[in-house]
Order: sequence, then structure tokens, then C-alpha cells
Amino acid sequence: MIILLDDQLVSRRQAQVDIEDRGYQFGDGIYEVIRVYEGNMYCLDPHVNRFMKSAEEIRLSLPFSSERLKDLLQELVSHNRLQEGNVYLQASRGTAPRTHAFPSKNTQPNIVAYTMKAPRPFEALKKGIQAITDEDIRWLRCDIKSLNLLGAVLAKQNAVDRGCQEAILHRDGRVTEGSSTNVFIVQDGQLYTHPANHLILHGITRQVVLNIAHELNIPVNEKVTSVDKLFQADEVFITSTTMEVTPVVSIDGRPVGEGKPGPITRRLQEAFEKQIG
Ligand code: PMP
Repeated sequence: MIILLDDQLVSRRQAQVDIEDRGYQFGDGIYEVIRVYEGNMYCLDPHVNRFMKSAEEIRLSLPFSSERLKDLLQELVSHNRLQEGNVYLQASRGTAPRTHAFPSKNTQPNIVAYTMKAPRPFEALKKGIQAITDEDIRWLRCDIKSLNLLGAVLAKQNAVDRGCQEAILHRDGRVTEGSSTNVFIVQDGQLYTHPANHLILHGITRQVVLNIAHELNIPVNEKVTSVDKLFQADEVFITSTTMEVTPVVSIDGRPVGEGKPGPITRRLQEAFEKQIG
């Protein structure tokens, strides 16, 4: 398999992680996941912009412009002839003797991107998924797409342990987002989702859905909702690059609405489908 290592396409075997890579030791780095539909990277600009923003927020300087990065990713996708799947991109602060503070200025970030074949999640899109609620124990800069994913890993595993596919997180009863998705609630024909602040990742799919809702004249409220409201919602769905717009049909074993994907979720799914097609 061919991967991107810094600014070169090389075989996967040529890429090795040093024991003192800062991503490996501290989670000191950032990442993106970009969906590929029919050979094209979907929403490439917003993904690369968010990657640049995450880098800036953690004071990591990347050795290339967003234009150059887009070209390199395009080369990677074309070279691997990826039709349906994902591109994973990450940058760590580089390799240096282990100490918490930043390494010397001449330490270069370690940048890697690779492609994965993956079908769209048709079954989840059609039937919906089951979720649990879980306490949001993550840090207070969830807007940065950082490699520190332990809070998300533990929450997702709690969901899996209970036979579910996602954990909907809350801080003191206030719903933030899913462990790897944004959460939307439908109540009385209106959408509710957490405002794009430091407590959630500003999902690219979230923004696509907000734009679609606007076009469809579905009222949107970027407001915090409680776990109680989540349980009373007519519909709940999650969004992400890989899960698109996925209905949530039960939470903590209780059915959402009628326990099947609701009409507004279906309308948004249809409109999303048109966008990617
Ligand atoms: N929130 C979290 C915590 C995530 O990890 C993700 C997926 N990266 C999302 C939301 C969805 O973001 P996007 O739509 O950009 O994939």
C-alpha cells in the first residue's frame, strides 16, 4: 500500500513510528478523516481548513500550505485508485527526547496520510443505531481535532459493551455530542444541536446538515439541550464524515419516538444523499 509520509508517497513499509514520536507518547498532534465518494474527496476544503485550524490552536507549524496539502492528498487518492472509503491524515509535533514542553524549533512534525476502502454504512443509515448516554469526561477544547482520544475511546467502548453503536455524551445533564459524532434532536418539527463552541468538534457533516435544514425551511436551534429532552425527543440522529446522517432509534434501551427513523431525519438523509451524489 502507498501512503503519504511528509510530502512523499512511499510504501507503507517505509513508514515507521519512532518510540519518541510525540503523537505516540503524548497524543501531541491532530488529525482528520475525509470521506471519498466515487473517487472524489467530499468537503475537502473544510477538512483541510479545520486541520490547519487545529494545527494553529496547538501551535504546531505545518511545512506546507493548504493548497499543497490538498494536492498531496489528491495524489494519494488517485495513486491508490480509491473509489469508496476514507482518507486518514495526521500530524504529530515530531520526534524529540521525551519532555512535556515543546521540542526545539528545528523539530519537524511527522505527517502521515493513508487511504482505507470502506463502504457507506447502509444498514445503519436505513435501520438506525442504538445509543447509550454517558458522562462527557473529555477536556475543554473538544473543538480541536486532537490525537488525544481516550475520553472518546472509553465512551465508545461503554456503548459497545452494552450492545450499542454510539455514546451520547453530556456534561451535568447537558448534551454535548457523540463520542465520534455530532448529535441532533428533532422536537416539534425543529432541529436542536449543541452550539459550535469549545465543548464539541465543529463537525463538517453537522455544518452540511445545518445548511440543508436551512434550504428545506426546517428551523434550527444551535442550543444546548438536556438529557431529559433527549429522551422526550421526536427524533434523534447523529452526523459524521463516516456515519453521514444516521438515525438513533433507542437510547439507554428506551425507544426514540416510535423507535424507528423519523420523517425529518429521512428528509435530511435524502437531501444529504443528493449532495454527495
Ligand atoms: N464529534 C466528534 C467528537 C468526532 O470525533 C467527529 C468525527 N470526527 C464528529 C463530531 C463529526 O465530525 P465530522 O462531521 O467532521 O466528521
